[in-house]
Amino acid sequence: MSKSMLETAQTAIKDAAIRLGYDKKVIDALLEAEAEHVFEIEVNGNTYPAYRVQHNSKLGPFKGGIRFHPHVNIDEVRALATLMSFKTAAVGLPLGGGKGGIAVDPRTLEAAEIEELARRYAKHLAPHIGSGKDIPAPDVNTNAEIIDWMVDEYEKTIGQPDKGSFTGKSMSNGGSEGREAATGRGGVIALVEYLKAQGLQGQPLTIAMQGFGNVGYWFAKTLREYPHLKLIAVANSKHTWVQTDGIDVTNAVHVPAGTPRPEALHDIQSVTAQPADLISSIKADILVLAALEDAITDANVDHVKADIIVELANGPISSSAEKKLLGKRVAILPDVVANAGGVIVSYLEWKQNQANEHWTEEQVNAKLASILTKASDEMLERSKAKDISLKQAAFELAVERIVNAQ
Ligand code: NAD
Repeated sequence: MSKSMLETAQTAIKDAAIRLGYDKKVIDALLEAEAEHVFEIEVNGNTYPAYRVQHNSKLGPFKGGIRFHPHVNIDEVRALATLMSFKTAAVGLPLGGGKGGIAVDPRTLEAAEIEELARRYAKHLAPHIGSGKDIPAPDVNTNAEIIDWMVDEYEKTIGQPDKGSFTGKSMSNGGSEGREAATGRGGVIALVEYLKAQGLQGQPLTIAMQGFGNVGYWFAKTLREYPHLKLIAVANSKHTWVQTDGIDVTNAVHVPAGTPRPEALHDIQSVTAQPADLISSIKADILVLAALEDAITDANVDHVKADIIVELANGPISSSAEKKLLGKRVAILPDVVANAGGVIVSYLEWKQNQANEHWTEEQVNAKLASILTKASDEMLERSKAKDISLKQAAFELAVERIVNAQ
């Protein structure tokens, strides 16, 4: 995926910059990473390639996750770092974009080896990161415990405390309330703003959702604040469950990654499970994609019946499927805004650390809503004013902000 993901991101950036009239020099600067750190970490005789790409810091310190996965490579990290710069800019945060990772299968390691890997990663990068330079966060297969080890090692290396150097920390170590729910909650906020702009506020609408992990679960839970929006189908990697009178997730429990997902859906276990790929063709007004990249491609795009698609996963629609959907006037709420809730609450964690404060969940949710509502409205206005897609509008706003930053 990585090479094409980078090309897709770069095409969206170039198209937006060309529409805005910027010249080649400006465009080349937008595409180029400011720094790439490629190194190796040895733990117990095994060597693991490690990366941190710092893409663009014109708006503020680099910001982006660190993943531990065997497929991590420089192209993937470059693509994800590039997308982060445009995501933070699209939602108006004073942050840049970065990404990091280690090519490792953490399931093959003992806990002590994972800790060693995390500590060596932070120690190596210590001169290049920090609350004013680059603020990493958890991502695939990394969590608050791993981030806490990194913060500890980083602080030891620089010889002073700097809690704002990482986000996604445990609550006792300066983490923020509301972080776990933030991406799903943000997806609902973006959807509701879109519906308002279309005059569909309060209208009864149905929703089918692919993915019931962290993001899908919190999207579904937050949706209960809008009873006219009815979740009628959900899918995980194995099955789709359809219940046309609505799926009640009140008693659904959040299960850690790796636990069989149906446990989270115990309330609808009485409903017959159908194949996982049925979800994209369910007759619902809104399709929420909260699982993986490339969920909708040329292979299944013609089956999509929804009029509105919310991209909660990163890049869940291939570029050629996107063209077909836009041709049919399907509205696509793009990932850079729809799933930005997570990075917005990471930003709020950083702000709390800087101010040495701990905000309540209500305070965090209110600030998240305010930032994302503004970002959604700006995207909707730009899209309408120029008759361009929501994704094109989001990239235009992001490009403009980065180019105009001092
Ligand atoms: P997760 O691993 O907790 O959950 C993924 C869900 O997708 C699971 O329910 C899994 O069963 C389902 N799934 C996997 N393959 C599927 C398939 N073929 N068909 C249907 N369902 C399938 O992950 P998550 O944290 O919920 O993240 C979901 C997506 O959102 C990822 O693409 C992630 O990169 C993106 N994202 C997450 C965050 C965040 O804050 N967690 C932020 C931005 C973007």
